[in-house]
Amino acid sequence: MATGNINVSVENIFPLIKKFLYSDHEIFLRELISNATDATLKLKHLARIGEAKVEIGNPKIEIKINKENKTLHIIDQGVGMTQEEVKKYINEVAFSGAEEFLEKYKDSDAKDTGIIGHFGLGFYSAFMVANKVEIFTKSWKDEPAAHWTCEGTTEFSLEEHDKKERGTEIVLHINEGEEEFLEDHKINELLTKYNKFMPVPIKFGTKEKELPKAEDAKEDEEPKKVTVDNIINNPNPAWTKQPTDLKEEDYNSFYRELYPMQFEEPLFHIHLNVDYPFNLTGILYFPKMTQDMSIQKDKIQLYQNQVFVTDNVEGIVPEFLTMLRGVIDSPDIPLNVSRSYLQADGAVKKISNYITKKVADKLKSIFKNSREDFEKKWNDIKVVIEYGMLTDEKFFEKADKFALYPTTENKFFTYDELVEQIKDKQTDKNDKLVILYASNAEEQHSYIETAKEKGYEILLLDSPIVSHLIQKIETAKENKISFVRVDSDHIDNLISKDEEVISKLSDEEKEQLKETFEKYITKEKYTVQMEAVDSKQAPLMITEPEFMRRMKEMQQTGGG
Ligand code: ADP
Ligand code: MG
Repeated sequence: MATGNINVSVENIFPLIKKFLYSDHEIFLRELISNATDATLKLKHLARIGEAKVEIGNPKIEIKINKENKTLHIIDQGVGMTQEEVKKYINEVAFSGAEEFLEKYKDSDAKDTGIIGHFGLGFYSAFMVANKVEIFTKSWKDEPAAHWTCEGTTEFSLEEHDKKERGTEIVLHINEGEEEFLEDHKINELLTKYNKFMPVPIKFGTKEKELPKAEDAKEDEEPKKVTVDNIINNPNPAWTKQPTDLKEEDYNSFYRELYPMQFEEPLFHIHLNVDYPFNLTGILYFPKMTQDMSIQKDKIQLYQNQVFVTDNVEGIVPEFLTMLRGVIDSPDIPLNVSRSYLQADGAVKKISNYITKKVADKLKSIFKNSREDFEKKWNDIKVVIEYGMLTDEKFFEKADKFALYPTTENKFFTYDELVEQIKDKQTDKNDKLVILYASNAEEQHSYIETAKEKGYEILLLDSPIVSHLIQKIETAKENKISFVRVDSDHIDNLISKDEEVISKLSDEEKEQLKETFEKYITKEKYTVQMEAVDSKQAPLMITEPEFMRRMKEMQQTGGG
C-alpha cells in the first residue's frame, strides 16, 4: 500500500475558487466591505490599546462607480497594508489576516472588536465579477504605499506607490457580462441587503438634505438644502444595544427599519443576548398573524457581526419559530456547511434550544404580568404556540402553563384552570374528565347551546392543527382527560348523568324516523340518534363519533 500527499498547486485551486466558492456572484461586495470594515476596526483597536499612535477621526468606507472605466471602487481608511503584508495576506490564498489578528491581540480582547473575516478567502471573491483587481494601500505604519495588480491568474505585480492617505482602495475592473455591478440601483440593492447594519459608516454618493428653517425665516421661503454624504447603513442597530437602553418605540422603529414595507406594528419583541457558551444577540418579533403566513416574505434575518448572511434560518431556529420576524446575529453559527449538518451540530442545537427557551420565557412573562393583553393577543399568536407545543417537547412543557383555551363564552382558561373548572361536573362513564369543544361556533350552534344549558364549558378550538394538538395533550396528560367535540354524540352520552334519558317517541316511531334519515347519510361516518328528549330539542340527532372524525382529519392534515 502506498501513501502520500495529494499535491495541490495554486494554479489548480484558483479557478476553482473563482467558480465554486461562492455560488452567488453578488456576495463579492459584502466580502470586500467586510474587509474594509475589519481594516477599520483593527485600526480602532490598535489606537485604543496605544499601539498605533494615529488620529483616526470618524473613518468611513466609500463605494464609487466609474462607468467610463468600468470600475468599482471600495475605499477605506483602515490599517492599510505594507508591501510585505500584501505578500503575506493577499498572495497567500486561504490565509486569514483576520484570524491572525484575533490571535495576536487576544489578550487585549480583540474578539470584542467584531472583526468579521474568517477563512482567508473573501478577497478572492472579487474575481467572480472582475477580470482585473488592483489594490492601492497605505499602512498606518510609516512605510510607502503599495500597488498590487492581478488579472485573475496566479501572476501578480507588486510595486511601490505614492498614495498618501492611510487605508486601502480596491479597484475592480468589472467583467464583460457583469456590467450590472456598475449600476447605481444594483449596488444600492446589494448595500441595502448585506450592509445595512454594518458597524462602519458606508458612503455611496451624496444626497440633498433640507436644513431646518431659521427662526426668522419667512413663511414662503424655500428651505435651504445642503449636499451630504449618502450613508446607507445604520452602524448601531437596536440589537447591538442593551435592552435597558431601549424603549418600546425603539423596538418598533427598528422593526420598520428591518421591514420597510410592513405597516402593521409587531405584537411584542424578544431581545436575545448571550455570550456564553455561545455568542448570540438579536431581536425577535411576534408579527400579527395573517391567514397565509406560508408565503411570508419578511423572514428572520441572520447576521454575523452585523453582516447579513441569509434569511434562511432553517435548522438554526426551530421550525415553529420561523413564523416570527427579526434578526439573529451570531458569529458562532457555522454557515459554510450543509443544512443537514447544521441540524446535527451540537452548537447549533444549543442555539436553537436557547431561542426556544427565551421565546417561552417571554410568553410566560407577558401571560403573568398582563394577562388581559395576552388574552387579546392570543388569536394572533396561537398558531405559533400550538405548533410549537405539537413539535417541541421542551416548549410544550413550558407552554402548557400559559397556553390558553378560549370558550364559546369568550372566557380564557389555561389547562389547569380548565380542569379545576370542570373536574366536578364533566366526567364520562369511566370517570374520565371530558373537555368539550367546538370547532365552529356557527355550525355547531345547537349542540353548543344544549351543552351550555347544562352548565358545561365548551372550548372554541378552531386552529387548523387542533385535531393533532388535542391528541398531543391527551397523551401528555396520560389519557386522564379526553377532548370531545360537542357534536360527536348526544351531550348526555358524552357526559355521564345519573338521570336516564327518555324519549317521547315510541320505539316504532323511532325506528321509522331513523331509517328515513339513514337513507340520506353515510352510515360509516354519522350516527342517527333518537334518544333526545329535551323540550327545546328535536327528537333526533345526527352525530359524528369523535374518533371517526379525528381519523379523517388526521388523514387530511397528514399524520400526527
Ligand atoms: P479574511 O477576511 O477571512 O481574513 P480575506 O481573503 O477576505 O480573508 O482577506 C485576506 C486578508 O487580506 C485580510 O485578513 C487582511 O489581512 C487583508 N486585507 C484584505 N482587505 C484589506 C483591506 N481593505 N485593508 C487591509 N487589509 C486587507
Ligand atoms: Mg474577509
